[in-house]
Order: sequence, then structure tokens, then C-alpha cells
Amino acid sequence: MKPTILDFTKDELSKLVKPAFRAKQIYGWIYTSYAKSFNDMANIPKTLRQDLEEKYKLMPLSIVNKELSDDGTIKYLFCLPDGKTMEAVLLLMKPEELGDDGEVTSEARYTVCVSTQVGCKVGCTFCLTAKGGFTRDLTAGEIVAQVLAIKIDNNIPAAKRMNIVYMGMGEPLDNLDNLAKAIEIFKEEDGLAIGGKRQTVSTSGLSTKIDKLGQMDLGVHIAISLHAVDDELRSELIPMNKAHNINSIIEAVKRFPIDTRKRVMFEYLVIKDKNDDLGSAKKLVKLLSDIKAKVNLIFFNPYEGSPYERPSVKSMIAFQDYLITHGLLCTIRQSKGIDISAACGQLKEKNKGEY
Ligand code: SAH
Ligand code: SF4
Repeated sequence: MKPTILDFTKDELSKLVKPAFRAKQIYGWIYTSYAKSFNDMANIPKTLRQDLEEKYKLMPLSIVNKELSDDGTIKYLFCLPDGKTMEAVLLLMKPEELGDDGEVTSEARYTVCVSTQVGCKVGCTFCLTAKGGFTRDLTAGEIVAQVLAIKIDNNIPAAKRMNIVYMGMGEPLDNLDNLAKAIEIFKEEDGLAIGGKRQTVSTSGLSTKIDKLGQMDLGVHIAISLHAVDDELRSELIPMNKAHNINSIIEAVKRFPIDTRKRVMFEYLVIKDKNDDLGSAKKLVKLLSDIKAKVNLIFFNPYEGSPYERPSVKSMIAFQDYLITHGLLCTIRQSKGIDISAACGQLKEKNKGEY
């Protein structure tokens, strides 16, 4: 099977093609002109175009399914070259605003939620992705392709800066080498030009890999999927917590290089009668007391056969109030695309019978 040219950083590409400046041109054709084939790359010599065509795939993904939500969220199910499928989501964070004369007064803001693996090894008991087990890591190019394919499909202009969250299928830090490469490719100024500050890696807490990512100094944000304040419950929800307990994660976060103006995001999945009590809120305040943190509360999103229940709005607000009155920044995640298939892994699950 041919690899995708999207797997290469610009540096790597400039070692593969001669003269090296062709790499910049090829990057431009791919990421800002949205070329459909190597043959479209008009200022590239024909022999080089043919050579590239023989060796590489330009776009490794095809769209299998697309679901549009009322709030503008679009969930994509993509097919990979080996026939495996995975998903990504385009989130409309702020719609475009028009003035009386129809002129755009405020631009739309987009975030793309990308997958890093087909399936996941971590096996969280609340997560639909975990149910399907682990199939394989995505290559760097397959990660990058999700954003490129979504920009092309929605006619989003190349210059439009997007944000990226690594919160789709898979555990990003379990595929660290390809993740790091994808981060670099996204950052490339001649390409998608999405800086580290616009990229957030969400992890279930592989503490040793949090350190490794920090040492790479890529300038990205991290979000920690904490979900519980004591190791007993956390190990029930996220089995690998036994190897990477809460304390080891907190210590790794303290070592992580963060922009002094920024905060580390802690995701807290709220599950009815499991972790939605104010005693847990109190412990959370204590746990995060010497970290510049912000907390994002997430409603557990039930799926067929899921072992847990969605918390009440009342308990969610009480939890948030407690954190805020005790000095923690706290938001409740707006479940975008709730009318389609919101939680990660759900679109893929729905299509199982067909693909
Ligand atoms: N593996 C990484 C990133 C992908 S999971 C991680 O765990 O952080 C992305 C997010 O989806 C996580 O914050 C996870 O808690 C959330 N999620 C998984 N299943 C969910 C469900 N049933 N309801 C709501 N959120 C869920
Ligand atoms: Fe994997 Fe994240 Fe799902 Fe846990 S929540 S199984 S780490 S994708």
C-alpha cells in the first residue's frame, strides 16, 4: 500500500524532492491550494509529479458518512486506506455574524476534534471507543488528513485558522511519535499553519508520556481526563490508573511547560451517583490547589448498554458552583452535536453493520 505524502514534515519532504524548494511548493499545493491530484501541481515538473504519483497517496481518507447537527457540528466517519474507519468532528464554536448590509462582521470560529488511533487500548468503562478494542495507530498523515479533508469538504478558506483538539478516538499519548509529528506538520507555516497554542492534547493520564511530550517542547496545551478524585473510582473508570495514579499525573502536570498566561484543563466526566457529590467537588478543589487549572465538567453521555447514567442538571450546577466559590475556574461543556451522536465512538458504532 502506498504511504501518504501527508506523513512528511516539510523538512523530510525537502530531503526527498530535488531541488529542496519544491517541498515548499508541494506543501502549498496540498495545504493551501487543496490540490486534488499531483497532476494539478502546475509549477512542479511533470517527471516529479509522476514520481510522486507513483509513490504516494495525496489524500488517505474518504468520507463514509457525515452527520450534521442543528448547532452546526458535523461529525465525519472516515475510511482509511486499509478499510478501517475512524471519526473526526468539526465544531462550530462561533457562527459567522453578518451586519445589516450582509457584510461579515465577525468570522466563524472552528475547532476540529481529531482521532489518533483506530480504537483505544486504555479501556475506560464509560467510553464507547473502548468497547471496540484497539485496532491500530494512525500515522501522522492520517491525523493531519482529518483537518485537511474537513477544510476541503466545507470550503473553509486556507487562511482560516482552526483550533485542534486531540479528543476523538484513541489515546494520543499512546501514539506519541506520530502525534508529535502531526503537531509539527500542523504547525508548518507553508502548510496549515496551526500553531501549538491552537492545539490541545487530551490524555487519560499516561504520566510518563506527559513528561515526554513536555520535553519535546512543542508548545501545545494539555487537557487531563481526570474524572475522579480518588484512585479507587478512577481505577474503575480508567483501568490504567493503577499504573499511572492520580498523584503521578498531578506531578507530571506540574512539570509540563505551559504558557504562564494559560491554565491546564482538567476534564471531569460527571456520572450520576458516582462522582457528582459535593464531597468529590471538595476533594477536587484540594487536589488542584497548587496548579493553575481550569475544570471542564462533562455530562456523561449514555449509550445503549452503558453501565452509568447521566447526572441531573441540578447536581451539575451545584458541583460547578462549589468549585467556583472555592476559587477554581469551571465551565460545563456544551455538548455540541448532541442530536447526532455526541460521545466519541458513537458514529462509528452506528455504522458497524454497514461498513
Ligand atoms: N483518550 C483521550 C482523548 C479521547 S477521549 C482522553 O481520554 O482524554 C475524548 C473525551 O471524550 C474524553 O474527555 C472522554 O472523557 C470523553 N468521553 C468518552 N466517553 C464519553 C461519554 N460516554 N460521555 C461523555 N464524554 C465521554
Ligand atoms: Fe481511550 Fe479516551 Fe475512550 Fe479512555 S476515554 S477509552 S482513553 S478514547
